[in-house]
Amino acid sequence: MTAVRTYLSVALSLAAAGVPVLPLRAGKVPFGNCCSCANNACGGRPNMKTPGLCACPRPCHGWAAATTDSAVLSSGLWVAAWKRAGAVAYHPAGAGVTVVDLDNADAVAWARESLPSTRTVSTTRGEHWIYRGTMRSANHVRPGADVKSSMAYARWLGPGTGTMTALPPAVLALVEREETTRPGEGVDSSSLTRARWDRSVATGCRHTDAYVRTGLERGLARILAHRETGAGSAAYGVARFLATQHTGCPGPCGLDAIGEQIADAAISVGVSAHYARRAVTNGFHGALGATA
Ligand SMILES: [Zn+2]
Ligand SMILES: [Zn+2]
Ligand SMILES: [Zn+2]
Repeated sequence: MTAVRTYLSVALSLAAAGVPVLPLRAGKVPFGNCCSCANNACGGRPNMKTPGLCACPRPCHGWAAATTDSAVLSSGLWVAAWKRAGAVAYHPAGAGVTVVDLDNADAVAWARESLPSTRTVSTTRGEHWIYRGTMRSANHVRPGADVKSSMAYARWLGPGTGTMTALPPAVLALVEREETTRPGEGVDSSSLTRARWDRSVATGCRHTDAYVRTGLERGLARILAHRETGAGSAAYGVARFLATQHTGCPGPCGLDAIGEQIADAAISVGVSAHYARRAVTNGFHGALGATA
């Protein structure tokens, strides 16, 4: 009960200050869409990339549901969500800001060297650096760093400290560079998701290159999506799933290279190297055990 009051009262005070907010569920991700909005059957919200007409009274469509409307925020359906919520999030561009989300100490150290100082907020393992001004969002613009502004949400973790400064060219450049190197790619993209697995090491694999690479890239994206918790078990699941695909191959299939990439992805979102490698080894063993 107190948690509901706290989330809702935080949300209402942010909304009063012009910051559009939404609830996140326990895993710190938005609530799933309701059945009318499932798979975007409703066409999506008017503010989405492809504008739709959805006026769903529930907090569907992730960041696009963020609102400053206190009547919506305190409606019965939203209160039901606040009751199950694990955090309050906001839509940075809707508040006129850009959040550079630095996931770990290395990323924070990089920002201190490379970016102008601004308002900062401590996160679980890193910091949010908040600049005035909006831009396109992009995940994984550097190891451990995301840019969250338009069409994105960021966790609200308090007002932070320091004076907010204008969005610097250095931050704009992070996303421009990404845009030029990987045009048209909308999903979480990074050097890690560009597979290093190579056909030449997989002389005994009976799958096509595309099949192996697509599976690997999806698996890595899945691990990279676990920014707060669960990346270690995601790495285990991905390792197990991918290894299972090759239990019918005569081999070798280049599973070592695949395993390294899985571990690197987990390490990049904060899993210890030791734990990441063990998760991969256990996942591979799990796959073999499953078919034995
Ligand atoms: Zn809905
Ligand atoms: Zn909808
Ligand atoms: Zn294979």
